[in-house]
Amino acid sequence: MTAKAIPLVDLRAQYLAHKQELDAALAECVENARFIGGPDHEAFAGEFADWCGGGYVALVGNGTHALEFALRELLGPGDGVGEVITVSHTFIATGEAIVNAGYRPVFVDMDPRTCLMDTGALEAAIRPDTRAIVPVHLYGQMVEMDKVMSVARHHGLKVVEDAAQAHGAWWQGKRPGELGDAACFSFYPGKNLGAWGDGGAVFTRDADLAGRIARYADHGREDKYLHDVAGTNSRLDGLQAAVLRVKLRHLDAWNEARRGVAAWYDELLNGDETVVRTETREDAVHARHLYVVQIDSRDRVLAALKEKGIHAGVHYPVPLHEQPVFSHLGYAPEDLPVTSHAARRVLSLPLYPELERADAERVVSTLKEAISS
Ligand SMILES: *Cc1c(COP(=O)(O)O)cnc(C)c1O
Repeated sequence: MTAKAIPLVDLRAQYLAHKQELDAALAECVENARFIGGPDHEAFAGEFADWCGGGYVALVGNGTHALEFALRELLGPGDGVGEVITVSHTFIATGEAIVNAGYRPVFVDMDPRTCLMDTGALEAAIRPDTRAIVPVHLYGQMVEMDKVMSVARHHGLKVVEDAAQAHGAWWQGKRPGELGDAACFSFYPGKNLGAWGDGGAVFTRDADLAGRIARYADHGREDKYLHDVAGTNSRLDGLQAAVLRVKLRHLDAWNEARRGVAAWYDELLNGDETVVRTETREDAVHARHLYVVQIDSRDRVLAALKEKGIHAGVHYPVPLHEQPVFSHLGYAPEDLPVTSHAARRVLSLPLYPELERADAERVVSTLKEAISS
């Protein structure tokens, strides 16, 4: 008999572990028939704001809209001229949100050790049209926000944190949104806090900003049939809010379990020179959304793992500055050499709170076999 497959994430295991609680919350929401807005929506906004350290939360339809709406409300809708600096090594949504808010993305390279924004490259990327910086807290580790903020303050730029992978991350005792103007979260099912569909949130310490984003996402509504701006429809469903309220109560424990799995991988891979681990900075608490290593012959190893029932992932194979959609920006791959090099080497190992020590051991031994064969 072949051993059971190890998925990249296991949402079914999470559901089964909390089935009663989740089913009851959903049933109650259905019985109340409050599918748009409603008590769970309101309660979750408050509970998530508290969990983020106290402030205000605007719930929206997804993490991409959270980024787009935060930029739009902080900078005003752009006309394609103003620039927003971010990284190329991220999910496409970061770049899309900048474009859809009316701005032009400018990409900086990354630190090869952490795969995070090279904050030393920020200063040189600033031009007269620069309006904002979007640091991406990729894989669950926060960018050095003290450095981002000092550049932003010096040049009068807004800072919108892409925290879609960073629920539960800290940098020098601060969480996403504590230093920047806003932090944007995704509740895509596979994120550390995932809904049963799409969802997103903007966390900010600015009550007025949160109110404007929430209004924009709900038809620019002042009152039920009174609209003061042309908004859109991008709301978090009542059912998703009900699920997220239950899951939020377990999030800290899940993040702890994720860190435990990562510690096993660290231990099992220690001393292996063919597997380059992504570093965690000393001042950071990592939320361990993903456990990413860099290896040679990545695609061959990825296929060999799959053959043995180990489902690893690649985050991300094509950096934004090499994407066809951004070809008009005029980047060549060698403009961001660290990013382009890493995109061919990154590999995400299976990671979810329910993963067991024996699974981690099998992942690592299979990985080592695949590399040396
Ligand atoms: C998931 C993700 C987003 C977008 O979130 P959605 O809810 O899927 O729209 C944005 N940025 C990063 C880095 C992400 O991982």
